Amino acid sequence: MRLFSLFKKKDENEYLPIPTHMKSILVPVGDKNSGFEATGKIKCPCGNECFEIWESNDRQIVTIVCTKCKEKVVLFDGGKHGWDAVMCGQDGLDREMPSRQFFCPECGENAFRITVYISSPGIVDFAENLSDGDAFTLDDWVNAFDWITVSLSCEKCGWVDEDWLDCETA
Ligand SMILES: [Zn+2]
Ligand SMILES: [Zn+2]
Repeated sequence: MRLFSLFKKKDENEYLPIPTHMKSILVPVGDKNSGFEATGKIKCPCGNECFEIWESNDRQIVTIVCTKCKEKVVLFDGGKHGWDAVMCGQDGLDREMPSRQFFCPECGENAFRITVYISSPGIVDFAENLSDGDAFTLDDWVNAFDWITVSLSCEKCGWVDEDWLDCETA
């Protein structure tokens, strides 16, 4: 037990399937995180946890903007993130489509707290699918997740959508 907790403390998050583009903004929460799943809240490097939400392609491209420092991050891009996009290079999204801002259906406000859940087949499964000539390396295992769920909570009125985005990516 003692050894395990030492091991866990050292680079704990390195073993979680947190996609590369979320490494600096996803803060793991709860006690169910492992090499196969990770749940975390989204926090801007400036410390703020409220974001505007913009989406296109039926929420297959989701961009968030920090309400404080205005930093913009692509939270999910179904043509680049996830197993099919990474392993098969599948991208059928219309990148000319303009993004629409999402507003709270209850109060009309535009600032949300965000929780992301990622499910992954794990690094071993990914390694077994690696072959010579691939455009990706073992480090990309975190990007080849097979499910993503995004939950929103309105900062103003507390409206919650547990699966605002609930998408299988494999
Ligand atoms: Zn910020
Ligand atoms: Zn609201």
